[in-house]
Amino acid sequence: VGAHVSMAGGIESAIENAKSIGANGERVAIKLRPKMAWASKPIPQANVDEFKRRVLAEGYTSKVMPHGCYLTNLGNPDEDKRAKSMGAFIDDLERCALLGIDLFNFHPGSSVGNCTTEEACGTIADCINQAHKQVKGCPTILLENMAGAGNIIGGRFSDLGLIIKLVKDKSKVGVCLDTCHAFAAGYDLRTEAAFEETMAEFEREIGFGYLKALGSHKDRHANIGLGELGLWPFFKVMNDKRFSLMPIVLETPGYWNREVPALYALQGRRNDPADWQETRRLVEEVRVLREQAEKAREAEKQKAKAEKAEKGGKEKGKQAKGKGKVKKAESDGDSGSDSSSSDDGEEYRVKTISKKAAAKQSAPAKKASAKKTPAKAAAKPAPKRKSTAASGSSSKRKKREPAHSDDD
Ligand SMILES: [Zn+2]
Repeated sequence: VGAHVSMAGGIESAIENAKSIGANGERVAIKLRPKMAWASKPIPQANVDEFKRRVLAEGYTSKVMPHGCYLTNLGNPDEDKRAKSMGAFIDDLERCALLGIDLFNFHPGSSVGNCTTEEACGTIADCINQAHKQVKGCPTILLENMAGAGNIIGGRFSDLGLIIKLVKDKSKVGVCLDTCHAFAAGYDLRTEAAFEETMAEFEREIGFGYLKALGSHKDRHANIGLGELGLWPFFKVMNDKRFSLMPIVLETPGYWNREVPALYALQGRRNDPADWQETRRLVEEVRVLREQAEKAREAEKQKAKAEKAEKGGKEKGKQAKGKGKVKKAESDGDSGSDSSSSDDGEEYRVKTISKKAAAKQSAPAKKASAKKTPAKAAAKPAPKRKSTAASGSSSKRKKREPAHSDDD
């Protein structure tokens, strides 16, 4: 089981960080560049060497899976914009090659409403074909299924199936199935029957052979076991033989040193929540920690507000323009405390998961970082997804989550 750890100390620190959260993992997923940046400095050779040395030393060879730049959109019909995305895509892949990484996961893109889904899938496949040709030592490129809002490609398994159909080198393409995204897109996973129905559609539209990794995307409101998805789907993937060698990548916010062991603790348990005590204990700890962090954040916010109001009040007495100033200060304070995430910038993250690892592994109980999640741009209303001819059961699905700009 894995987590999402900071790589602020340089790309090589990913490996230490992965270990520190108890991920004696099968996979480490890292960021190759700051999360929301087009360009990034080249990785210095010394860091490359150190990264490779640690990968070897800690047994992570062939177990690292970076997540692509979040800004790229290979489905954009605008050639200039797509070229820019392609530049970042190629850069990411070249970084993988440089670091000896053989799996790479990315968000397929969006039609941006200017072309059909099929056309967007076509350009995405073209880009992948081009990358396969252009990048020496190109890793296997994994398409991530998305939450499926609006013009986003990958909400439906059929989108991914179509892209793969158009990729020439089938040995270098696959899918990272994100459970949270799938659920948000209307693929139910919460019961045995629903889970199997979803897997059947995956098999039909994509093919199980292309499933190379599982993900649990950052869902702002839910850590493992605390969201609508519940614990059962995690119990399922931790125990179902079909996923037994598959890496699972967590992108939940912040509490990996508990969530990783929480997932491991599901291994070998009975299909009965009463048998998941250790997991439920850890989930409860995360819930309490989150609550505390939220309270602390709220208190801070109030304090800052009060201070600013006081300061503004004094100024108001002195200055005629005071009123306008107070207002501005307040709104600055608000946005500041909502979006004061340190997720961006020169931070890299790691996620790892191993199902093989001993369930008993106890993660060092480092203080969970009560990291603030970046403020979401106000959720846009989710346009209805067009259902394709092949999606027989789509009418049964309904959207469970508002569309969110999916930055992580
Ligand atoms: Zn992702």
